[in-house]
Amino acid sequence: VVAAEQIRNLNKYERSILLALERGMKRYSWVPLEHIRAATKLSESEVNYRLSRLIAWGMVRFNPVPYDGYALVFGGYDTLALTALSQKGTLSALGALIGEGKESVVHEALGLGPVAVKFHRVGQRSFSSARVNREYMEEGHCPWLIASKKSAEREYLALKRLHPAVSVPLPIAQNRHAVVMSLIEGGILNRTALETPEKTLDEILENVRNAYRAGIIHSDLSEYNILVENRRCVLIDWPQWIGTAHPNAEAIAGRDIDNILAFFRRKYKIRRDREVALQWVIG
Ligand code: ADP
Ligand code: MN
Repeated sequence: VVAAEQIRNLNKYERSILLALERGMKRYSWVPLEHIRAATKLSESEVNYRLSRLIAWGMVRFNPVPYDGYALVFGGYDTLALTALSQKGTLSALGALIGEGKESVVHEALGLGPVAVKFHRVGQRSFSSARVNREYMEEGHCPWLIASKKSAEREYLALKRLHPAVSVPLPIAQNRHAVVMSLIEGGILNRTALETPEKTLDEILENVRNAYRAGIIHSDLSEYNILVENRRCVLIDWPQWIGTAHPNAEAIAGRDIDNILAFFRRKYKIRRDREVALQWVIG
């Protein structure tokens, strides 16, 4: 993720080049220099100078064969999302990295108060090898960009449907692959020593039940996707949710419950019947 300072320093030409690349990536795997020039109406020397800065900042990549082409990378996409959110007044500064998961990078940030910004990073690893890279690039579209944006949209939708009936972060805004939500000041359940684990388990199951009643199954629930803030559980990481009308809804809800029960059995020696818990959640 790009430093907040660079976002403030990003000049209007650089921003317009990033926007031209974002649009160009729908048609080209590597956007030709000529296309960038035509889209931005900037002189050749200006474009070259601005592109060299964007490359140095890790926002754009250059590929010289078979023609001079440029591609937006996550750093540039982060910048577009951040500048849009700061223009709307949602964010004023980006702070420290607070989490790095399988498919995201999460930062603390300043909005009206402290907030969390989650940048979705879908397809980063699967598209990173040179071979796969070349293959998808040749197809002339940009799966990581589209998948990451969809993932953010999906998570934001879930948070909006669930809050406040289910204990989830408050959804504040979404732009491109970024979701802005309330900052949860607490640790991951996995690393928290619970004083009243029975009560916490009940609280989690009640949240899972309330989500189910709102038509949503988390489907990646575990002790790693629950934060504990002032002894209250907050369920996070919702992009892979499915609707309760899904043909495998019961099995997927069962798997979420299994993960939670297994954790409480392992760490707190609490035994609960999974069928009873499942029927209570979906009943
Ligand atoms: P991933 O799909 O990458 O696992 P998560 O939503 O689980 O994404 O977020 C990764 C990490 O970022 C979490 O484990 C947590 O430490 C932190 N995090 C995510 N959302 C918040 C939030 N709203 N407040 C505080 N920390 C958060
Ligand atoms: Mn997670």
